[in-house]
Amino acid sequence: MTLVGDLESTGPVAILLDVDGTLISTGGAGARSWRWAFDTLYAVPADIGAFSESGMTDPDVARGTFRGALGRDPTERELARVLAAYLQRLPHEVATSEGYTVLPGAEHLIRRLSERGCLVGVVTGALEAAAHIKLTRADLNRFFAFGGYGSDSSDRAELTRRAIERAGAILGRRIDAADVYVVGDTPNDIAAARAVGAVSVGVASGHYGVDDLRRAGPDVVLHSLEDPMPGLEWASARPG
Ligand SMILES: [Mg+2]
Repeated sequence: MTLVGDLESTGPVAILLDVDGTLISTGGAGARSWRWAFDTLYAVPADIGAFSESGMTDPDVARGTFRGALGRDPTERELARVLAAYLQRLPHEVATSEGYTVLPGAEHLIRRLSERGCLVGVVTGALEAAAHIKLTRADLNRFFAFGGYGSDSSDRAELTRRAIERAGAILGRRIDAADVYVVGDTPNDIAAARAVGAVSVGVASGHYGVDDLRRAGPDVVLHSLEDPMPGLEWASARPG
């Protein structure tokens, strides 16, 4: 690591980044893993796209897809088995996914922020294990000391709050949400960031365009993580 100055005291204390559509695209590895889980356990075809939307948490995706494919709610044990089967398949699907990509500017941004003393965390609807399986192929796990996950809560605002608490646990003090940037590619991500009082940053690198994201009322909208982020222009691949 090169010797550089610390982040100015006015910069965010922490930045939280969503995984799918924000840092990486798995090229459908998640959807194929869900399909494998339902096919293996219940011999039913399950298209999560028909029963869920992007930005939903994994437990909700599992519940909704179970309901859609089998016509009833899963029991707790059935839900646990579906999640386990999904996780069992995910490493294979990620490793062999032809469409897997690290999204433009992602690694540059998190590397620069880490070097300058900004805590970098994950905020995702994915189960904790699933998030890190997805990041393994890109070798990005080493940048993330903490996070908030779909396994913490089905509610995205609540799991975002948990991530901010965990950033505070590292520093040994309570962090004000207004000192945290939350970056995501869906209106759900923006709504969660706003609900907790964080600085919300929408990035149009997933399924939603700039105008779709703007309607959710974020503080900032970017085309990609290469774009300069207000207050953190120096960290972006294209500082502007
Ligand atoms: Mg996403």
